[in-house]
Amino acid sequence: MSLKLGVIGTGAIGQDHIRRCSQTLLGSQVVAVTDINLAQAAKVVAELKIAAEVYPDGHALIKAPEVEAVLVTSWGPSHEEFVLAAIAAGKPVFCEKPLAVTAAGCRKIVEAEMAHGKRLVQVGFMRPYDSGYRALKAVIDSGQIGEPLMLHCAHRNPRVGENYKTDMAITDTLIHELDVLRWLLADDYVSVQVVFPRKSSKALAHLRDPQVVLLETARGTRIDVEVFVNCQYGYDIQCEVVGETGIARLPEPSQVQLRSEAKLSNAILMDWKDRFIAAYDVELQAFIDGVRAGQVGGPSAWDGYAAAVAADACIEAQNSGQIVKLAQPPRPAFYG
Ligand code: NAP
Repeated sequence: MSLKLGVIGTGAIGQDHIRRCSQTLLGSQVVAVTDINLAQAAKVVAELKIAAEVYPDGHALIKAPEVEAVLVTSWGPSHEEFVLAAIAAGKPVFCEKPLAVTAAGCRKIVEAEMAHGKRLVQVGFMRPYDSGYRALKAVIDSGQIGEPLMLHCAHRNPRVGENYKTDMAITDTLIHELDVLRWLLADDYVSVQVVFPRKSSKALAHLRDPQVVLLETARGTRIDVEVFVNCQYGYDIQCEVVGETGIARLPEPSQVQLRSEAKLSNAILMDWKDRFIAAYDVELQAFIDGVRAGQVGGPSAWDGYAAAVAADACIEAQNSGQIVKLAQPPRPAFYG
């Protein structure tokens, strides 16, 4: 029997996840959708030719008896209330990042899940499912480059819209690095600082872009992440790990190498949806398989909380210009 899914939010990633759950992945069926814009939800159902009912809001969808598990793909500030409602209903829930827009909101979810007594939440941090990051982690864990000393990373987008504000470079963009680098190093952050280089003339007036985030981990590894969301040329994710005896780099996405017109070139992807397309498939298949086996795994509410604690410190560092110390509470046994 297929797992019956309800999807809250039929924007860009909601549509993409509905398509993959209906057409690409095994063992699931989207039976319910909703969006703040109901006409748009109905349009998505028609366009993707799925037999799903459009519910008036997220709470009605969560309560619907036919919905066995929930995907939350609405805008960030609405995630907390829907994840809490799904936990209260005892239904497994896959929540796109951020789990909640503040660490306090994530903490409430952690407390609710622990009170429920069993994991129900998987957070949509897909990079730990990416084959490139997995290969990089395998090299680090093998000891081949010795202990990681420094990481040089970049998260670049071609451009962003008017609604994108300076703090979103942390909560929407850097949040992926905050999660995946903790996972990669099996370490926690102890301090952060944000510095602003010369502003790009391509960035809108209200936005400070680029930014460089400097992180220090408990074991003393130093990380610099360049966040540059108007770089124009492509969607480009870089991660280089400098170890005691060698350097390991995140592989570039596989592209045809072209020799033409006196140039040797490789295309650079422009769209984030393409860069991690396989990882999105793998993370959601893992959620579906986990729910069907009665065992939700993958990035947990605790991981969502830990990333949010670091994100809150980064925002404080953006505003103060100071080095901000972070106190990550100890991981409860519940989260392994
Ligand atoms: P989007 O295109 O703006 O879609 C969000 C949708 O949710 C919109 O249709 C919005 O309606 C709707 N919505 C807002 N509040 C709602 C509510 N209370 N109930 C029901 N629907 C509501 O944004 P997106 O790019 O899909 O992003 C959605 C979430 O996924 C964000 O949290 C984002 O950070 C995350 N995301 C993650 C990744 C990743 O790599 N893992 C990639 C992209 C996005 P209106 O437009 O009418 O407000």
